[in-house]
Amino acid sequence: MTVTTPTLISYSPATGEPVGEVPITAPAKIPAIVAGAREAQKAWGAITGHQRADILRPAGQAILDNKDELARLLSAEQGKPLADGLSEVTHTGEKLMEEVDEIAEAVAPRELTGEGMVTTLRYDPLGVVAAITPWNFPMLMPQWMALPALVAGNAVVLKPSEQTPLIAQAYADILNRFLPPHVLQVVHGADDQGRALVASDVNLIAFTGSKATGQKIMAAAAEGLKRVILELGSKDPLIVLEGADLDAAAEFAARNSFRNCGQVCVSTERIYVQGTIAEAFTEKLAQAAKAYRSGDPFAEGSVLGPMVMREQKEHVARQIEDAVAQGAKLVLGGGDHPGNAMPATILRGVTHEMDIMKTETFGPVAPIMTFEHPDEAVSLANDSEYGLGAVVFGPEPLARDVAARIDAGMIGVNRGIHGAKGSPWVGARHSGIGYHMGPDGHRQFCQVRTITRNA
Ligand code: NAD
Repeated sequence: MTVTTPTLISYSPATGEPVGEVPITAPAKIPAIVAGAREAQKAWGAITGHQRADILRPAGQAILDNKDELARLLSAEQGKPLADGLSEVTHTGEKLMEEVDEIAEAVAPRELTGEGMVTTLRYDPLGVVAAITPWNFPMLMPQWMALPALVAGNAVVLKPSEQTPLIAQAYADILNRFLPPHVLQVVHGADDQGRALVASDVNLIAFTGSKATGQKIMAAAAEGLKRVILELGSKDPLIVLEGADLDAAAEFAARNSFRNCGQVCVSTERIYVQGTIAEAFTEKLAQAAKAYRSGDPFAEGSVLGPMVMREQKEHVARQIEDAVAQGAKLVLGGGDHPGNAMPATILRGVTHEMDIMKTETFGPVAPIMTFEHPDEAVSLANDSEYGLGAVVFGPEPLARDVAARIDAGMIGVNRGIHGAKGSPWVGARHSGIGYHMGPDGHRQFCQVRTITRNA
């Protein structure tokens, strides 16, 4: 008798054709996979972080050596234009080589001295980390969850999004050319596999995805008091104050609303413009938006690929229709488009009664609302359950003052939210629990222990 393993087929969002397939992991097999990880972790956790960094570093170069092939797979499966696929792959490889040393440094033991005593502060591995990731940056997100866990001495079981299993598997395959067996394993599937992994004998769940899934994971993790790091959704505001450089603000608004077809957790999802400059800003944004042409990910000149899946496109289309039905005006875009295509869309006259200003859109839409006084802009920006990023364009010192009053984790003033080297990736309110990057971010993958002796 031959037993066939069910497969997970990955479809191209552009053509609807299969790109490839992976075997689905039976949820019942996940406890044994985790047990294998726990066994493998013993030797992996016993060497130093710097030794682990040395083992992993060549994987970054291997990614770069295969970047063209990986970028084609990433774009075919996720739908972003090839140039963007290539930039994600290149960034992943380069960051791997840079970050392994930073992580190793962060988790190295250090000594504190007190009166008559010496304390060793240890950043020990937790054991087995479940890394559960989304589809929007399908190679970078697995790295964000897995790399600090691995360098910190944990074994990792990765459950990538069911939308993008192929590129995640390709990433893990490259790391596994260098890692000992079972230190990094991949399980494939959707909610059932995610639930089974969370319920298994793991010590930490490092999750990036939607708020709704994050809440389920946190509830399930409570049972075994498992640690969680949750990087969730958002509804990031952009405030444009009178006196701002309108060309720079419009160029930023276009890029940050439309790139990756709006499927970025720190996309601009709400724009608040001071009434006196609203007309001029909207015209400039509409002009800048023309550069974001939709098309096949592999066609010359496409800046926006299709949305990753039909349900995502339908959600975005529904929000646009609902806003228009409630009185918002389409400045650009909208309409019916074939397949998963969704063009760069600008709406004006939106209000906080509309779903498009409340629920995460995750699509290429820039909804504009006006305000009269900066205080009003601050309360509108803070009128959200989320708080990942926020950006303010305007004259100094007013722009900085407004920025300081916004309840978000990462705020940009006259620029995007990305901070200087060592800054954490952090969300406030319902955008997350815990954070990434910087020494403190890396140490969340460790159990901190102190051992104190007489001096
Ligand atoms: P999602 O929550 O639907 O799925 C994420 C992962 O969780 C997938 O691998 C999925 O299979 C798995 N999953 C689903 N149900 C599960 C369950 N009950 N238990 C365990 N795992 C389960 O999210 P998505 O649609 O893949 O990604 C988009 C979301 O990710 C957006 O909300 C976006 O804002 C967010 N995101 C956040 C960040 C950040 O840094 N804060 C970065 C990227 C994406």
